[in-house]
This record gives sequence, structure tokens and C-alpha cells, in this order.
Amino acid sequence: MTSNRPRIAIVGIAIESSAYAAHRAGYRDFPVLTGDALIDRYPHLAPGEPLRDAAEWIPVFMARSIPGGAVLREVYDDFRARIVEGLRAAGPLDGVYFDIHGAMSVVGMDDAEGDLATAVREVVGPDVLMTAPMDLHGNMSETLALALDLPTCYRLAPHEDVWETKERAARTLVEWIRRGEKPLRAWVRVPILLPGEKTSTRVEPAKSLYAQIEDVEKRDGIADAAIWIGYAWADEPRCHATVMVTGDDERAIAVEAERMAGELWDARDGFAFVGPSGSLDEGIDRAIAHRDRGGERPYLVSDSGDNPGAGGSGDVTWTLTRLLERPELTDDDAPVTFVASIFDAGAIDELFALAPGDAVDVTAGARVDDRVSEPVRIRGELVSLHEGDPAAGRAAVIRLGGIRAIVTEFRKAFHSTGDFADLGLEPGDADIIVTKIGYLEPTLYDVAKGWTLALTPGPVDQDLERLGHERIARPMHPYDAFSSRPDLSAAILQGRAYVRDIAGAAGGERA
Ligand SMILES: [Zn+2]
Repeated sequence: MTSNRPRIAIVGIAIESSAYAAHRAGYRDFPVLTGDALIDRYPHLAPGEPLRDAAEWIPVFMARSIPGGAVLREVYDDFRARIVEGLRAAGPLDGVYFDIHGAMSVVGMDDAEGDLATAVREVVGPDVLMTAPMDLHGNMSETLALALDLPTCYRLAPHEDVWETKERAARTLVEWIRRGEKPLRAWVRVPILLPGEKTSTRVEPAKSLYAQIEDVEKRDGIADAAIWIGYAWADEPRCHATVMVTGDDERAIAVEAERMAGELWDARDGFAFVGPSGSLDEGIDRAIAHRDRGGERPYLVSDSGDNPGAGGSGDVTWTLTRLLERPELTDDDAPVTFVASIFDAGAIDELFALAPGDAVDVTAGARVDDRVSEPVRIRGELVSLHEGDPAAGRAAVIRLGGIRAIVTEFRKAFHSTGDFADLGLEPGDADIIVTKIGYLEPTLYDVAKGWTLALTPGPVDQDLERLGHERIARPMHPYDAFSSRPDLSAAILQGRAYVRDIAGAAGGERA
């Protein structure tokens, strides 16, 4: 029975890279999966799942990192070569499951995923169908759009539908291979570039824009629909929003792609921060006022400018430095304030020479990213030492008045209540939790009794105009004023060719 099952190779490199981070992603950042371990990554390919037996899945190569800075060129070149060689060795294929994030920057390159997809396409040939389950913060360049037959992306931010998306992509790929046809794709570039914290699907207008996709893809002639909001912390011509609809009815996909692109454009001024934003001081003032009013614990403050989850370096000291300077946080009766986190292997070595209860005088952070702040001197008492976290390595908690500062050996995002509890810091015991995050991920969202999105400086500064983009395609909302509506007509692609450059199926006004 194996002989008539489609043969589908699994390959990918996934990272979200801030071009404004001093961090460079190298081998240590990228755990590599091959063989059965790569198959095991996907719940939809577990034994007994229908998709497992629907195809012969050939695990070739997958390297995945948490978000960070740009990838070192030699590391990317090596991974790319391993993917190309692995595909060549895999023999004849029917499909490729191209598992990428979509916002990888590589030192010296402008469109890393476009380059990788083109390399894969060249080795597998024009007739093999390629899917790509992507992050909606990825970039869908023209090069990438031409290389992929069935790209799709998440429909929720925060991304609670990661595995649903990966399963949908696999299912759609198997279906189209069985049909023996090549899908058509309607591709619309939308000249908008917004930070993720303004486009959460928990609130309007993103909520409705994304919620309609499920209905769109049920329509006749449509296989999948996707809206890439794009990635704002890189300075590349491909950074912009994109709408893409795939299917077999040229008119239907064009109409829906142009309609959704128009709705996205019309909603452009409605995108706002998902929660109350402010400066760091404003966030702390609100947190203290919340406590003084008898408000429940904990109050969350997002140190958004260095969120490793979006590409922050993770060792920017700007926020901790300022918190240590506020006497109302460092007094003995100060509110209990967890502060996550700074990574610094050298500081961890010093701290591990001490025992809990010992006095600490250590300088930490800004070893990688010293663009906005210097290393921070922390004087206090060592609370605890921890080992074994796969991301953080060793970790230490230092107390100074109400502050519990977390120092780790390596980069780690403290994005769940468990990340704190693992260090003996129960979120319910904190008056204030300051962590390097943007919008709150689910478990922190659930426990937060108050919240400020602090607009702190750093590699993923939410104030995009403070960063300065020079190489994105202009005009771009919100950087430029538009005197008329941009051209939001769909190009129709099939395989690596344009069927129609401008479909114009939806009609309506044009620039
Ligand atoms: Zn994302």
C-alpha cells in the first residue's frame, strides 16, 4: 500500500529575527531535528492520526530557534546545503512541507525564506507541490509567493492555533497531491507595516478580519485564505502585509483576496495597542496605585522593547536599571516585583560561586546588546540558584527590597507562569511582574489583574518610527501619507508563473 501514497519531504528553518538586535543567531540557537524526531514534532503525524498514513512523510531537516537577531550567514548556508542535499537524496517526491516562520533575517540577505524556497524548488522540480505553514508575522515576498503552491499562516495572535495551522497545511497538501492539480493563488500586497502588539486578534479590527477567514475558505473554489500582517522589525523591501487566497476558481480567489485586502486597508487607522500602553514609569505608577487600592495580584508590566519572543536580544538592561533606581521598589516594604530577565553567562559564573543568603554585587547584561543601555550593577541578596532549564541554562534570583531580579546563563523568554514558578517565584505572590514580552501570552494573560504595555526602547521597540526604516518599499502606512487608495488588485499565480498580473476581478476603485 505504500507505493501509491504520496511522498512528502519535511524541511525548514524557522526563526523570527529582529534586524535591530545585536544578537546573532548561530548553531547554539538552532536545535536541529531530523529522522523520527522531526516526525514526532507534529501532533498530526502521531501514530493513529489519519494524516500519518495518508502519505509517506520523509523527515529531511528542520532547524528552529526562538526569535532573535539575524542568522549568521555561514550557519544559514550550511542549513540550506543540508536541506538541498537531503532533498536530493530523498528521491522522487510529490510534495514538500516547508516549515518556516517567515521573518528570518540572514546577515547580508534581503529575503532569506525566498532564497531557501527557491533553492528547494530548484532541487525538487516544478511539479512537486509545496506548502508552508507560516506565522502571520512572516513576510510573503513575491519570490516566496512564486515558489510556494499552498502557503498559509496562523489566524490568531497570540498564536494559539500553531498546530491547527500546521495540520491544515499538511491536510491541504495531501488533498491537492491526490487531485493531481496545481492550485491557483491570488496574491495582494498591502502597503501596511504595523507592530504585532497593534494587531492582536483578541481585539478589533484584527479580530474580525481574521475571524472571517474560516468562512472564506469554505466557499466554492477556495482551498485556503491567509493574511500575513508582516514583520516590522526588519528593514527589507518584503516587509509589508499580504493577503493570499488559494483554490481552483480564479475569479473566486481574486474577489476574496481583493475584498480582504481592501478591508485590511480600510481598517488601517483602527489598529491600536492591545491594552493600556505607556512609559515604564507610567506602568510602575499604575501598578503601585493598583496595589495601594487593594487590587488583586499580580499587575503585569510588559517590557516590550526587548521581547525575545519578537526578536529582542534578551540582555537589554534599560528596564532593570530604571527599576533599581526607584526607591519605592527597593525599600524593605516595597511591593514584591519579579523582573525577568537578563542573560549573562559571566555573571552566572560569579553568582554560582555564592550561596543563597549571600550578599551579591554583580554587573550583568548588555554583553550582546549595549545599544540602549550599559551593563547593570545589581547589589542585593542571592535568593536561589537553578540549573537545567533547556533554554536558560543556569539561573539565579537576586533580591533587593521588593525586587526579585532574574539572571540567566542564556537567552530565555519568561512568557508563562511556569517559567516563574520553576524558579520558586509564584506569580500569585507578586504585586508586580515585569517581563520582556509584548501582548500577554495565555497563562500570564489569565493571571494578570492589571496590565501596562510599557513602550521601552530596544531591538523590538514598538515605536517603529523611533527605529527608523530605510529600505522598506515606500509609500507605507503609517510612515507616509497616501493621497489615494493604493492598488490592491490581485496577481494570479500558478506554479512559478503569473496567470494574470492583475486580475481585477473585484472591480472597484483603483489608485
Ligand atoms: Zn508571530
